[in-house]
Amino acid sequence: MVEEKKRILILGGGFAGVGCMRTLESYFMHDNDIEIVLVSEDNFLLFTPMLPQVASGMIETRHIVIPIRTLCKKTKFYEAQIKNIDPYGKVVTLTGTNERRGISIHYDFLVLALGSQTNFFGIEKMEERAYSMKTLNDAVVLRNRVIDMLEQAENENNPILKKSLLTFVIVGAGFAGIETAGELNDFVRDAKKYYPHIKKEDIRVIVLEAVSFILPGFNEKLASFTLEKLMQHGIEVKLNKKLSSFSGSEVIIEDVSELNKNSTNQPVIGSILTRTLIWTAGVTPVDIIKKSVFKTNRGGIVVNEFLETPDFPEVFALGDCCYLVNPQTSKPYPPTAQSAEAGAKTVAYNLQAVIKNKQKKKFEFSSRGQMAIIGKRSAIATIFGLHLHGYIAWWIWRTVYLSKIPKLDKRVRIFLDWTIDLFFDRDISRLKIFTREVPMEFKELDEVDDVW
Ligand SMILES: Cc1cc2nc3c(=O)[nH]c(=O)nc-3n(C[C@H](O)[C@H](O)[C@H](O)COP(=O)(O)OP(=O)(O)OC[C@H]3O[C@@H](n4cnc5c(N)ncnc54)[C@H](O)[C@@H]3O)c2cc1C
Repeated sequence: MVEEKKRILILGGGFAGVGCMRTLESYFMHDNDIEIVLVSEDNFLLFTPMLPQVASGMIETRHIVIPIRTLCKKTKFYEAQIKNIDPYGKVVTLTGTNERRGISIHYDFLVLALGSQTNFFGIEKMEERAYSMKTLNDAVVLRNRVIDMLEQAENENNPILKKSLLTFVIVGAGFAGIETAGELNDFVRDAKKYYPHIKKEDIRVIVLEAVSFILPGFNEKLASFTLEKLMQHGIEVKLNKKLSSFSGSEVIIEDVSELNKNSTNQPVIGSILTRTLIWTAGVTPVDIIKKSVFKTNRGGIVVNEFLETPDFPEVFALGDCCYLVNPQTSKPYPPTAQSAEAGAKTVAYNLQAVIKNKQKKKFEFSSRGQMAIIGKRSAIATIFGLHLHGYIAWWIWRTVYLSKIPKLDKRVRIFLDWTIDLFFDRDISRLKIFTREVPMEFKELDEVDDVW
């Protein structure tokens, strides 16, 4: 029996936060003693697996985002930046409006689902100079950049400069890197027909990977199949190559193959002339988590098997922003949407268990499979122990991910985008209304304006 009104505050509107909100609503829909509040800086849920297809113009920008308000049945939603989390006072401070008004929200239970950000590993000026593939803005900015490079290269007489404009370097051969490379390669090569002075051999799409394999975590045979296919599609994959620096026009790479590492000689250094470097080499939990009072490991909030923070039992953390070692693999759970969704169910269950004085359950997650698209209507997939590749895997990828979009209208729009793409060329108009995201600076308020 619930004795008094309780507020559950969820921070973050990604797979973890929205998933948790929806499960909590199913538990407490008609319970007036439970309030659910969700705060996120964007008012939509971003369906990241389709982000590279937005960058390549296959899917229209708005079709892979779902407004959070359309998913809320009971939850109160705030579109705002989180400024401070105080687990001692059980209060979270937000800044969301142009007037920089601070709002503080008290909570009884807190769910931290703030996700991750691109990890540039402290490489000098990388954040400023490289493009990333993490947010919707990133995808749109990259698409504009690629079209801009085609436009500039078309009328460029200097052959070296022309080649550098048409060289696209992707750093990291994980999920995001390989999918981005496949999509970008298809887009540039298809768009070429509108640029009569650009030859096929002028275009280079290069993937740099510091280790000796691609797609870590995938079946080895599928990874080899992918490597072969990427090369057939004209993508250069350079393994054991670590990026040292990027000046904005030249990438310096170091050969880190075992042979070279053991050698007493100077490392072999190479260079690639390019104006566009796309960084997909890793993620790290968001800064606000790293700066918080919660105990962290590798940037993620340390949680126990119930996804609770040990020092604050009313605070739960999940998804990309938490750190928990999988006892089966002795490795931390991977930062994937699948794992975030599983965590959402566990946290919602445990919250209602705590509120109703029931037994909590442990977080258990084993991947249901993995899939990646690799360009030219080809994909790889591991589902229920089966390893598939080629067209059939591509078809499964589309069917599975389409079914995961939580709103029917978005599903229909994406399906139509894919159908149109079968018959028509991609749009090469460059919309100049988007700029690189500049971090917003918020004025520290002397006192909280409003306590809600
Ligand atoms: C290109 C790409 C492709 C991917 N493909 C796959 C795939 O095929 N399969 C798969 O399983 N995983 C995939 N992933 C990984 C997957 O997207 C993440 O693991 C997943 O999004 C994690 O969910 P999350 O809710 O923890 O974090 P997120 O989805 O990152 O959500 C965090 C939320 O918190 C909000 N937030 C952060 N900081 C603040 C703040 N200070 N104030 C307010 N709000 C804030 C963000 O705006 C966001 O809404 C892919 C990722 C990328 C980038």
